[in-house]
Amino acid sequence: MTERTLSLIKPDGVKRDLIGEILRFYEKEGLKVVALKMLRLSKEEAKRFYIVHKERPFYEELTDYMSSGPIVALVLEGENAIAKCRQIMGATDPAEAEEGTIRKTFALSKGENTVHGSDSPEAAAQEIAFFFSDLEILAR
Ligand code: UDP
Ligand code: MG
Repeated sequence: MTERTLSLIKPDGVKRDLIGEILRFYEKEGLKVVALKMLRLSKEEAKRFYIVHKERPFYEELTDYMSSGPIVALVLEGENAIAKCRQIMGATDPAEAEEGTIRKTFALSKGENTVHGSDSPEAAAQEIAFFFSDLEILAR
């Protein structure tokens, strides 16, 4: 089934000039970029994006970090894009991520872990709409 998912290149990825390399990880596995923008979230926007984690102990630190510098937001399209993107990213904690994944290759820590990817169809729809209007998502 063709799906769309939202991925973010987090501040540590942009800061270390990994945008191109991260796009390559997705593109070489057949995920197509159908929308892309660079932006900086305010603290309030980061809190809204990660609202599902509001009760978690890392919520403040996470949203401080996510609003600390520019990020890249992208919509990826392809066969099973949601699961495929998560697989290419690897586990949240780079120490647990599989060899060859983005997080194993680049993540600095469990918090500064270089990329985000939607974890369900519901989250993907919501997260894509958070960053992009329909007009900004291109047919390929
Ligand atoms: N995070 C953290 N400490 C934790 C768990 C998560 O700092 O113990 C951060 C990390 O940046 C992670 C984000 O919060 O990517 C969202 O957590 P989630 O469990 O949704 O992980 P993900 O879906 O990004 O793998
Ligand atoms: Mg998540």
